[in-house]
Amino acid sequence: MKIVVLSGAGISAESGIPTFRDSNGLWEGYDVMEVASPEGWRKDKSLVLDFYNQRRKAALSAQPNAGHIALAELQEHFDVAIITQNIDNLHEKAGSRHVIHLHGEIFKSRSTLDPSLVYDIDGWELSEGDKCEKGSQLRPHIVWFGEMVPMMEVAVEETLQADIFIVVGTSLVVYPAAGLLDYVDASIPKYIIDPNMPGVASRENLFLVEEKGSVGLEKVSKELIAKYT
Ligand code: NAD
Repeated sequence: MKIVVLSGAGISAESGIPTFRDSNGLWEGYDVMEVASPEGWRKDKSLVLDFYNQRRKAALSAQPNAGHIALAELQEHFDVAIITQNIDNLHEKAGSRHVIHLHGEIFKSRSTLDPSLVYDIDGWELSEGDKCEKGSQLRPHIVWFGEMVPMMEVAVEETLQADIFIVVGTSLVVYPAAGLLDYVDASIPKYIIDPNMPGVASRENLFLVEEKGSVGLEKVSKELIAKYT
């Protein structure tokens, strides 16, 4: 049986990584368009690099919480694929093996000349002057606002195979990720876990769990194991 999970910033909130929506349009005090858009990058590379360096530094010491761990433990009973909008690596740190990063990864950089050249970042710092093997500046391996989402096709394929679909910690306003729910068949159980439930059109087999990720995922996980194994 296959469980597909769509996770967002909310699942990492209890690990001390602030969400975007809960901070009034500013992300850690920054105007998001200044630091997470191609225009922002063209305007001020060092501001963008610094912003992600700070996020990377915080992500290095962040630890997965009970929500990430509950999802990793579900692998003992089900085939689990996690589609995350998060750029942190907390799903992997918790032990999840099949994680699709829709919006990129904070611990990777890529060439501004050839997007297929992707590198691991050791430590937390990416600087102006750090170059790819073809001599071009490296940028964070992040999907910025206004950019294509290359992993979307893979995410849709996974979603279409789901026997159970779980959404956790996302305000469901950033597309195309938010549209994944529309690919899930009416007959499939769908759970949405969020302490401030996002507005979603009513549909069949939809279960709304108005809880934090830790509590909600532990609860749903127990229910799924009892019901389907
Ligand atoms: P979002 O900030 O728009 O929404 C967060 C959602 O999480 C809200 O619905 C909120 O009610 C909910 N939430 C808050 N605390 C929660 C908790 N303890 N448990 C469960 N849910 C909780 O986030 P988004 O929908 O992921 O979209 C914003 C974009 O910002 C994404 O593209 C993402 O890449 C980026 N982002 C990533 C991180 C990260 O990597 N951890 C952090 C901030 C923003």
